Amino acid sequence: MAIVDWITHYMVAFFLGRKFRLDKIRMIAITLGALVLDVDIILYLFPGPLSHGTLTHTLGGALVLGAICTVAIFLWKKKWTAQWVALGIVSHISLDMINTMSIFDEGKQLLYPLSDKVFTLKGYVPDQDLVWAIMSAAIFSFSIIMLAKCIIEGDYPWRVWYDERPLIKYWRSKVKK
Ligand SMILES: [Zn+2]
Repeated sequence: MAIVDWITHYMVAFFLGRKFRLDKIRMIAITLGALVLDVDIILYLFPGPLSHGTLTHTLGGALVLGAICTVAIFLWKKKWTAQWVALGIVSHISLDMINTMSIFDEGKQLLYPLSDKVFTLKGYVPDQDLVWAIMSAAIFSFSIIMLAKCIIEGDYPWRVWYDERPLIKYWRSKVKK
């Protein structure tokens, strides 16, 4: 369900960016941060012990990928956006904890390589399957509604990547520079 995951990750980051009234370069940073950890889906092409959602979804993996994104955006746009890339990454991991059910299930080693501690809610949440289903349905519906709303307003969320025109009016007037 990668596509569903990506829509959710992108829209939640985009929504956060709107809340903070980010300009387009910072929007690129936060949405890129929100997607980049899933570059590890190419591991599907190389079956082995490392699978999707492992190495890149740790402190070490996030730092490396976040640094690459920050440098890439800096070379492209000449602006320093590390904190927004970081916020995108935090939003990704927070959502994955719910979305892919891992924190309700076998958990993740979030602090790797600093620590091998596995973070999980297994045993703490009663009816974990039900809680997971409700939470992920809620987050996904929220993303789809946000997407529809943006499209109706003419503010296609992906427009920040290639379109130099400003975003919608109320936002343009208060955008963070
Ligand atoms: Zn992920």
